[in-house]
Order: sequence, then structure tokens, then C-alpha cells
Amino acid sequence: MKRTRVLIIGSGPAGLTAALYTARAQLKTVVITGKLLGGQISTTHEVENFPGFPDGTTGPELVERMKAQAEKFGAEFVFENVTEVDFTKGTPFHVKTDTDEYLADSVIVTIGANPRELGIPGEKQYVGRGVSYCATCDGFFFRNKDIIVVGGGDSALQEGIFLTKFGRTVNIVHRRDQLRASVALQTRAISNPKISFTYNTVVDEVKGADGVVKSVMLRDVTTGQVTEKPVDGVFVFIGYDPNSRLFGTQLDLRPDGYVKIDELMGTSVDGVFAAGEIHDSQFRQAITAAGDGCKAALSTINWLGERESQLQPLDEAVTQPA
Ligand code: NAP
Repeated sequence: MKRTRVLIIGSGPAGLTAALYTARAQLKTVVITGKLLGGQISTTHEVENFPGFPDGTTGPELVERMKAQAEKFGAEFVFENVTEVDFTKGTPFHVKTDTDEYLADSVIVTIGANPRELGIPGEKQYVGRGVSYCATCDGFFFRNKDIIVVGGGDSALQEGIFLTKFGRTVNIVHRRDQLRASVALQTRAISNPKISFTYNTVVDEVKGADGVVKSVMLRDVTTGQVTEKPVDGVFVFIGYDPNSRLFGTQLDLRPDGYVKIDELMGTSVDGVFAAGEIHDSQFRQAITAAGDGCKAALSTINWLGERESQLQPLDEAVTQPA
């Protein structure tokens, strides 16, 4: 059983920033990275909107730099998944990973949310090369290009409207004959001359050549007719799933599955904080997640500081109240 003052679950911009702050505050910090160091941003080919990089950077480079900065102050990275948490007995919290167990005086949860995928051939292969789940991140690369947006909810229409700033055409492909999005967004989208709609249609395959997307195979679900449509970009907005299943009923969740937090980033369990997309269904940006990570870390530092006299030395066997 390993001991730590701060255990950070997740290694996206929220987790990496939290690690920088808690490690720099001289608190032993362990980051359990999850299966992909950096999370969603590490699959983003080019990042042009993270402040401090006037010439842009790549997702992987940004992640490596943030990790190196946290390591410089002593944060320790463990490339494993958290498989189980026990927050029920209070601090220190018990956390199991693939091969180890930890007792942590405090925990910062930063395991994010994942955009839902279509699960069709070619989708994974062309992520970052024409397939995208983030218009703010990637829209700029589709100037004067032909784009399809998959989905019929608020995200699809809002992001579709945003993409008309860049794209030559934006075709919204929806599986039913009625949109789910609010009437206000529907009105804006329908009145936008760059936007067209294809109803009762699903995307069966993304096809490409020379490493980039060239077309999609569309199927009309009412007639079964399949057509190949030439496109440069495929933006998928069919909802997001917060990765909150790990916590079961141990943390209070909102009805949509995101973790509930207070203004100090505290969850319903004293000593467990949350940052980034695990609680934020609205902004979904690397910089907002990083800001969140900073806030959660500062709250954690204060929380541990208030309990300093009760904290057991890390090299002693822990005694936990029954
Ligand atoms: P959503 O409301 O769940 O809509 C998802 C859309 O994707 C639906 O149209 C759904 O079709 C479609 N879809 C789901 N799975 C699919 C699949 N496998 N293949 C093809 N299409 C699929 O998700 P969201 O648009 O991301 O919105 C999430 C929440 O955030 C909502 O509460 C929304 O109101 C809110 N939001 C608000 C705003 C705003 O107010 N401006 C902006 C963005 C999001 P069906 O309609 O047939 O189910």
C-alpha cells in the first residue's frame, strides 16, 4: 500500500495543472494517468488557442511540457488505470490501480468526459485528419472546405453554425426527420445560407486517401439507399459521456452524470475535489480545464493545510478510524 498526500486521477490539462500546483506546494503528489497520458488533448493534432504558444503547438507536445513542468517539482506519474475507489470511510482515501493500492489524504478527480463516437469504419483512423469532435479546436483547419456535422442536438447545430465561419459548406446529417436542438438554434441554423440538412440519414463509413478524409458513405434509413458524398471534414456531435461510472454512488452526480462540485471545486466527499470535464459539460477547452485544475489544487492545498496537525507522516503505517 503506497501513501501520498495528493492523488490525482487523470492526466489531461486539469490533472497536469493540479499536479504542478500541489507538487510545487511541497505535497507528495501521485498522478494516475489513465490509459492515455493527456486525455483528449493528446489526440488533437494542432493546438492554436492555448495561451503562450503564438506559433501553436501539438496536443502531445503540450501534454509532455505540462508533465515535465509538474515532474520538475516532484510530481510522480504512474501509467496505470484506477480500477476502484473507496471514499466511504473518509480520509485517507483508498484507491486501487491495475497493479497497486494507494492511501491518499486527498484526491483530485480529473478523468474528463469523452465525446461519443459513431463507431463506424474509418472514424478512428482519420481522427485529427478530417474527423473531429471539437469545432473550436479544429474548425480553423477547414477554411473553404466542405464539412459534414453528424447529430441533431444543440451541440451539432451550435458547432455547425460556428463552423460556417470557416467552411465553404456545412451539411448537418441527422438520423431522424426532426432535430432535437432548441427552436432558437434551429432557426439560426436554417437561416444560415452555408448550412444544409440531410435527414433520416446515417454515416456508415469515413473514407480517405493520402492520410486525409475524402468522402463519407451515407445511408438513407428510410429507403436504404447508399451514396458516397465527397467531404473534407466530418465533425461528430452526438453527445458526451462523463467518465463518472468509476465512482458509483460515492460522489453526488448531476442527472446528466457529471460530478457535482461547489465553488471551491469540492465534491460531495470532504477531501475529494474535481476539475475539468468530469464536472464541466459546457466549455470543454484545454485552458478552462487547466484553470479548473489550478483551482482544485489550491483548494486541496488549503484543505490539507487546515488538517496539517492530523496528517500522519507518509512513511508511517496508516491508522484509519473504524
Ligand atoms: P444530445 O442533446 O444528446 O444530442 C445528441 C444528438 O446526436 C441527437 O440528435 C441524437 O439523435 C444524435 N445521435 C446520438 N447518437 C447517435 C448516433 N449513434 N448516430 C447518429 N446520431 C446520433 O447531445 P448534445 O447536442 O451534445 O447536447 C448535450 C446537452 O448539452 C443537451 O442538454 C443540450 O441541450 C446541451 N447543450 C446546450 C447548448 C446551448 O444551449 N447552446 C449547446 C450545446 C449543448 P436523436 O435526436 O435521434 O436522439
